[in-house]
Amino acid sequence: MAAHGTLFSGMLQEFEGAARILNLEPGIWQMLTHPKRQIIVSCPVQMDNGNIEVFTGYRVQYNITLGPAKGGIRYHPDVTLDEVTTLAAWMTWKCAVAQLPFGGGKGGVICDPTKMSKRELEALTRRYTAEIIDAIGPDKDVPAPDVNTNEQVMAWFSDTYSMHVGHTSTAVVTGKPVEMGGSLGRREATGRGVMICAREAAKHLGFGLKGSRVAVQGFGNVGSIGAQLMADQGAKIIGVTDWKGGVQNDKGLDIPKLQEWVAKNKTVAGFAGGEPLGAKDVFKLDANILVPAALEKQITAENVKDIKAKLIVEGANGPTTPEAQKVLNERGVFVVPDILGNAGGVTTSYFEWVQDRHGYFWTEKEVNERLEAKMCLAFNAVLETALKYNVDMRVAAYIVAINRVATVTKLRGMYA
Ligand code: GLU
Repeated sequence: MAAHGTLFSGMLQEFEGAARILNLEPGIWQMLTHPKRQIIVSCPVQMDNGNIEVFTGYRVQYNITLGPAKGGIRYHPDVTLDEVTTLAAWMTWKCAVAQLPFGGGKGGVICDPTKMSKRELEALTRRYTAEIIDAIGPDKDVPAPDVNTNEQVMAWFSDTYSMHVGHTSTAVVTGKPVEMGGSLGRREATGRGVMICAREAAKHLGFGLKGSRVAVQGFGNVGSIGAQLMADQGAKIIGVTDWKGGVQNDKGLDIPKLQEWVAKNKTVAGFAGGEPLGAKDVFKLDANILVPAALEKQITAENVKDIKAKLIVEGANGPTTPEAQKVLNERGVFVVPDILGNAGGVTTSYFEWVQDRHGYFWTEKEVNERLEAKMCLAFNAVLETALKYNVDMRVAAYIVAINRVATVTKLRGMYA
C-alpha cells in the first residue's frame, strides 16, 4: 500500500497501543488501518506568464463508517500521499473523539502558494475541485481549510462544485465566508478548542490559565487565535515562533499588536514588542504550557529534552513523534493530543454543515456555547479513559475513537 511512509507508521504505532488495550479483533484492526480510498489527480494550470504547470493533488477518504469523510485541504510544497493519508486517518479518530457523524478525509496539493498570484490559486483550486468532483458532496466528503488554505479558497471550491451540479450547494465544504453559508465562530474555533483544552488540562493538573506562561509555535489561524484567547483568560504569551523567526517577551506579548504586524509582514519575526527568538528556540522557553501549532514532527527525540513545559496542547496535527511522546511520558508531561486538542475546528465545521443543511443559522453565542459543551465532553471522556487504563491522553483518545468506529463497523456488519 502506498500509504506506508514514515508519518503513517507513526500513526500506526499510536493506533496499536490503543488497539491492544481494547483487544481489537484482527479483522477490524485490518479494516481500521487501511485507507478506504486514495485519489491522485494532475491539475494543469495556466500560470500568469502563459506557461502551463501541472500540480499533483490528493484526496484521501480514510474511513467513512460514521458518516461522510471530513477534513481539510492543504497547499504546501512538501505534501505527499503518505502525509495526506496519515492526516485523513487522524481526522477519522478526531471526528470519533468529538462524537461527530463524520468519517475522516484529507486533501493536499503540492504547490507553494506564497509564490502564486491570487488568479493562479483560484485556477488551481477550481481545477483540483473539478478533478475530485465525483468523490465529494455533502453526503460523501466535505472538505475544509487546512495549512495555507482559507475562506476564499473554500468559496472557490464551493462555487466550482455548485456550477457542476447546477445549483448552489453550501454544505459541500466548511470554513466558507459567513456571507455564503459559513458559520459564525468557525474561524476562531480551532484556537478556541485549544484554549478550552488548555484550561481543562490546567485545571486537572491543579493550576489555571491566569498567570500561566505560554509558548506558541506557529502563528497561523490556530496559533494566533489560540494565543489571543488564552491571553484573554489571563495567560502570558511569552514567546511565539513561525517559519521565519520568532519573538519573546517575558512580560507577555501584546497579541493583537502582533496579529497586526503579521497581517502586514507575514511573519512574527521583526516585531518590535519583544526580543528576537530563533525559529527553533520556542521549545526552550521557560513556559508552563507549550502549544505546537505549526506542522507535524516538530517535537522530536532530539529536541524533547529542551522542553520545560508540564503541559502541551497540540494545535497542529502530528507535532509530536512517538519517540518524543515516550520521553514526555517518562518526564510526566501532560500532552493533550492533536485529535482532541485541535478538534474545535472540525466540531464547528460540523455545526456549519448542520446549519447549511437546515438553512437556519445560529448566533455566535450559540455556536460557542455548543463548541464549549462538545469540547468539554470530549476532554472528559478522554481524561476518564486515561485514568481508567492508566495511559497517556493520546492512547486514551485513540481508545475512545477506535472503540466508537469499531462498534459501528461491527453493528453495520460486512457487505457481501
Ligand atoms: N483542517 C482542520 C483539521 O485538521 C479542520 C478540518 C475540518 O474542519 O473539516 O482538523
